[in-house]
Formats: sequence, C-alpha cells, structure tokens
Amino acid sequence: MESSIIGYSRGDYSAKTFQAVNPSNGEKLSVHYAFASYSDVDKACEIAADAAMEMAGFDGKKKAVFLRFLADGIDEITDLLVEIMRLETGLPEPRVRGETGRTSGQLRMFANLVEEGNWVDARIDRAQPERQPLPKPDLRSMLRPMGPVAVFCASNFPLAFSVAGGDSASAWAAGCPVVVKAHHAHPGTALLVAEKVVDCLKACDWPEGAFSLLFGEGRTVGQALVSNPSIKAVGFTGSRSGGKALFDVASSRPEPIPVFAEMSSINPIVVFNEMDDQTTEEFTDGLMGSATLGTGQFCTNPGVVFHPGGNWGKTFVSSYAKKMSEFSPCPMLHKGIRQAYLSGLNRLSSTPGIEVVHQSELDLQDPGCLAGTCVMSTHADNFLNDESMMDEVFGPSTLLVAYDSKEQLMELTKRIEGQLTISLFGENSDLIENELLIAFLETKAGRILFNQFPTGVEVCPSVVHGGPYPATSDSRSTSVGTGAILRFARPICYQGFPDKFLPVELQEKNPLGIRRSEV
Ligand code: NAP
Repeated sequence: MESSIIGYSRGDYSAKTFQAVNPSNGEKLSVHYAFASYSDVDKACEIAADAAMEMAGFDGKKKAVFLRFLADGIDEITDLLVEIMRLETGLPEPRVRGETGRTSGQLRMFANLVEEGNWVDARIDRAQPERQPLPKPDLRSMLRPMGPVAVFCASNFPLAFSVAGGDSASAWAAGCPVVVKAHHAHPGTALLVAEKVVDCLKACDWPEGAFSLLFGEGRTVGQALVSNPSIKAVGFTGSRSGGKALFDVASSRPEPIPVFAEMSSINPIVVFNEMDDQTTEEFTDGLMGSATLGTGQFCTNPGVVFHPGGNWGKTFVSSYAKKMSEFSPCPMLHKGIRQAYLSGLNRLSSTPGIEVVHQSELDLQDPGCLAGTCVMSTHADNFLNDESMMDEVFGPSTLLVAYDSKEQLMELTKRIEGQLTISLFGENSDLIENELLIAFLETKAGRILFNQFPTGVEVCPSVVHGGPYPATSDSRSTSVGTGAILRFARPICYQGFPDKFLPVELQEKNPLGIRRSEV
C-alpha cells in the first residue's frame, strides 16, 4: 500500500484506500493508495508554512538549480512514466513522451526566468526630500512569493498540469512551497514524479516543506487543504463545478485567498465567409484533427463552430460529419469523464432544435472508457434561445451553428460566456470588416487566433492560457507560459529602508543587473 508524501516522510496508512483503474479495460490496478488523514493535511501545510519563510530568501540561482535538476530527473524517468501512465490513463506512448518533454521544458523555462531575474518587476522611486509642498519618501517595490500554494492535479494533463507541472513549477519559481492534491485517476504517475521531486529537493538542500503530495477525495482532503490557514493561493484545472466549489471554500475562509481555476471553455470557431472547395477541405481536416486530439480532452478543444450556413454550410456539415465518423473510438481518461461526456451528448441531442448529424456507435457494455465522436447541427436562432447549448461537452464532439447575417454573428459572440480561445477563419479583409466584432471578442477570450486551430498551446512568454469566467476564475491570469508565475507573487513596497536592508533586486547598485523602472 502507498500513502501520501508529507515533506520527506510518508503520510498515514489509513483504512480508506483507492486504486487506479485502467481506462482501456476497466480493470483496477493492483496498488492501493491510502487517503490522506486530516492530520496529514495539517502537517503538510504546517511544514509548508515553515518552508515558505526559508524559501522567500532563495535567490534566482538557487531556484534555477532545483528546477533544472528536477527537469533532468523527470527526463530520466520517462520510460517508467510511459509504463505507469499508459496503464492509468490509456494515453498512447508518443503523448506520454511528449508530455514528459513539455513538463521538463516548463521547469527549465521557469529556471531561466528566475535566473534572469527581471520577472520581479522592480520599481524605484527615489526620495525627493526637497519636494514642495511635501517631501517625497524613498519607495521601492517588487514581487515577492505569496506563501504555500495548493495545487490540484489535472486529469487531462497527468504530467504537465500535475505534480511537477506548470502550477507547481511557477509556484516554486516564485519561491512558494507546494502542497499537491493528486488526481484519483493517476496516483501512480503522481507518486513516481513526487518521489523524484523529493530526491531533488534533498539534493538541492531545500526544506522538506517545499513539497507534499496528498491522496484522497476532493470534497474532503481537497477542501481541507484549501481551508488550511497556511495555504495562500490555489492552482486548479478541471470541471467548472470542482473549480467553483474550491473558489467558494477559499472565499469563505476567515482569510479569503485567490483561486486560479482553469475550468470550462467551448472555444468557439468563427467562419466569416463561405470557403472554396480546397479551403473547405483543409478547414474540415484541421477542425477534425483539433476536435479529436487527445480524444477531445483538451481544454482548448473546439466545441462550437459558427458558420455562414446556406448551401455551403450544408456541404460543410455533411463533409465534417463524414470525417468525424472515420475516427475510431478511443478510451477517455477515466469513467467520470466518459460519463460526463455521454451525459452531455444525451442532453444536447435531446434539446429541441439540435440535429445529430453523426454519432459513433458505442458498446455500452464495454468495461473500459471508450468514447467516439459526435457532430450536431443547429441554427443560431436556437443557440441564442437556449443557454444550455453553450455548456462545455468535454470530449470529441462539435456543435455546428449556422448564422444568417453579420448582425446575428455579433449576437452570438455577445451571448457566449468567457473562453480560453476564440478562432477566426477568413481573409485579411474580414479582419477590417469585422473590427467591432473582434474588439468585442477581446472581452470574451484570453487568446484570439486567426486561421489557426486552438488545441496546441505553445509554452512561451507571450502565450495566454486564461480568460473570463468560466474559462477561469481570474481573467487576469495565465496558467501556461512565464506569466503563470505572477499568480503566486504579490507586490511589496519598501518605504524609507536603508539600502543594505533592501532585497538585492532593489538596492541602489543593482548588483543583479536586472531591468528596473526607476525615477
Ligand atoms: P474534476 O472533477 O473537476 O476534478 C479535478 C480535481 O478537483 C480532482 O482532484 C477532484 O477530486 C477535485 N474536485 C472535484 N470536485 C470537487 C469539489 N466539489 N470539491 C473539492 N475538490 C473537488 O475534473 P476531472 O476529473 O478532470 O474531469 C471531470 C470533468 O471536468 C470533465 O468531464 C470535464 O467536463 C471537466 N474538465 C474540464 C477541463 C478543461 O480544461 N476545460 C479539464 C479537465 C476536466 P477527486 O479526485 O476526488 O474527484
């Protein structure tokens, strides 16, 4: 039996346990994982609070050494990850290898960021003792770590958004300890990475409270973690209901804390005009690839297409349905996701005004988590009259919505909720003719694409993986790219401090040579 990791020790071997399930065949895997006890949660948070004091003094170099060491460590265990993660998630080997590379790449990206040091946004206003009518004091500010961060592993990114994924990497880079709540669907993957994290912390002489891993239910262990007074921020990727529940717990604490939850998005695609045959072919191919990537289990999966209808629309709908029907059913990540997908399809397909153009036949007796594709079609009038059509159906399905006019397209974009992405397909001239619509879309999404599909998310400084609610709980944030570090740091201003007592980043001689805004 395995138990949680609390710093450098193991948690309680409590009587309540769970096992991972192989989504390909529905069989339980042999290892039992003990649920963390409430005392495990308290202990993890207590040592995290102690570690936070020490880690606040770490310079960029010390943080970079650990992040790079961990990146190398994760690369070293790629073969082991392929073995366990394929069993727990049903994901194919190339995806596991790709996600391992993304995870170590993210750690190295944050290592480079903190080593360079400019991210702290240092600002200096020198004193003006002679200023009239009042003297100006010396004021200097920079970003400092928030304190211990609770991170919830995402089911759909068992590495890149889990134990040592983007949330943890950005929190460590900011100087924050991390307490991770494992996802029930891939505990073995989480444990393997967690053991590597502990080895690297020891080797880099970091305090044990810099990391803990808790197994257990979200509603008990997860909520106890977010309620713990030592926790100062939360990173989450998952369902709207889960993210909202944790947001509510965090907001109702005696000391409310920020929750950076990335939840639900239907990532609309807007087609401005009818396309010629070749462009239509390329577009349907690209849309199919985007909608079925990872069996549709990407947060940037395009769930809705607004298209100009008419005869072109009819041809597009039928050729897209034909392409989607050629996609063989694949296992989804866990039973809960498959169940949510099938319920979403049932709900939508029985909604008045929706026509099911294609739906893969499934053996409902299949013990695994197989899911196939679905294409539904409706008119904008129906979509505008029924908000439930805007709900995320997480999986390889697409709702194609025909609109009649530019005015109706504007209505559609006004009505949709906040999104991670909105993709526009057309000519350069469409960008000029639809200037107002595009300006309006800026209020709806974190990333706006032109003639590109949204599924691939480049990990780089300028990417934004965020958006207005319900895409995320805080539209000012991104959970991918270097900007993710800003979620776990807050500005602190030092007024009238003698130079040698200031953080080095703010000292007069600028010993680190970082970029500063100075007056
Ligand atoms: P989830 O159910 O939200 O679970 C994510 C994490 O949150 C798990 O650790 C879970 O704990 C915890 N949790 C869930 N509800 C909670 C609550 N009320 N209080 C405290 N913690 C809670 O997400 P999932 O398992 O990844 O997938 C389920 C559905 O979420 C999908 O079908 C899909 O609709 C949506 N989803 C969306 C995205 C996206 O990016 N848009 C990504 C993934 C999933 P347990 O382990 O105990 O369940």
